[in-house]
Amino acid sequence: MTTVDCHLHLGLIDEHTPAWWWWEQFGFEPTSVGGVEIVQFLDETNIDIGLIQGGDIRRNTYHPDYLDDRNMYVPNDYTARQCAMFPDRLFGVIGIDPLVDVYASLDEIDRCVEKYDFKVLKLLPTYHHYRPDDRRLDPFYEKCLSFDIPVQIHLGWTRTTNTTMEHQRPVYLDRLGRDFPDLKVVVAHLGHPWVDEAIAVIAKHPNFYTELSGWGPYGMAPHDPVGEAYKALKKLKSYECLNKVMFGSDNTDCKDMYQAANAISLASDEAPLISEDVYENIMGKTACQLFKLVSTGGDRNDDI
Ligand SMILES: [Zn+2]
Repeated sequence: MTTVDCHLHLGLIDEHTPAWWWWEQFGFEPTSVGGVEIVQFLDETNIDIGLIQGGDIRRNTYHPDYLDDRNMYVPNDYTARQCAMFPDRLFGVIGIDPLVDVYASLDEIDRCVEKYDFKVLKLLPTYHHYRPDDRRLDPFYEKCLSFDIPVQIHLGWTRTTNTTMEHQRPVYLDRLGRDFPDLKVVVAHLGHPWVDEAIAVIAKHPNFYTELSGWGPYGMAPHDPVGEAYKALKKLKSYECLNKVMFGSDNTDCKDMYQAANAISLASDEAPLISEDVYENIMGKTACQLFKLVSTGGDRNDDI
């Protein structure tokens, strides 16, 4: 079984990410994360493949104490270089601030797919202050359809300063499902804490998927991630949506969350929440199909 972590962040302190961003918002020691560190993390958590993302949040990164230190930008070229170092382990996620310059952003998607074979577009509505159903984004959804790549959208809460809560709600994906029924949409974080709303859109639209990355200390569901995951997975199962769930970590060690949630169901004398087949789908099979993750034995990105 090939296992996949579909939600991993890159960034070198100072070069890509201000140090304050870590300690002010998450209480973490600032840590640089490149391809080497990601592969080390994958090895530690026994995962084969990682989808790695940079991103451009320069426009909205803000803290009143650090007004001159807002360079939150991990270029796609950096992501591509990390993928090139580990062509069987790492695959790229496109990071853009789409509405600053729509034509340039669309060209950047072309470049990332055609030159670097990136597998998915990431959008960050709450960080960039737009609703995901904003019609100005329609060309980006059409672009994803033209390449047949999914769009992974951050939905849900974040501690980050200067994000907008009104743009975190999964209900704003409904028009995408209606207007672009073939578009593959990954609802990142299962929209926590708007989990019921996320489950509703995922259950309604056949091409919607999800991942429960970042559920844990310092992130979403900090109090009881396993208990919350158990409840959410049970509800997803009742809507026959467990095969739309994929494993993602957000760089946190949460690989055992699904087994732990399953253990709750077994301790309650219920039927197992997650069968072996479904577990294999969650841990990699679904992601391999959705993102078309095929190892090319090192032939990618020759010209980097
Ligand atoms: Zn994330």
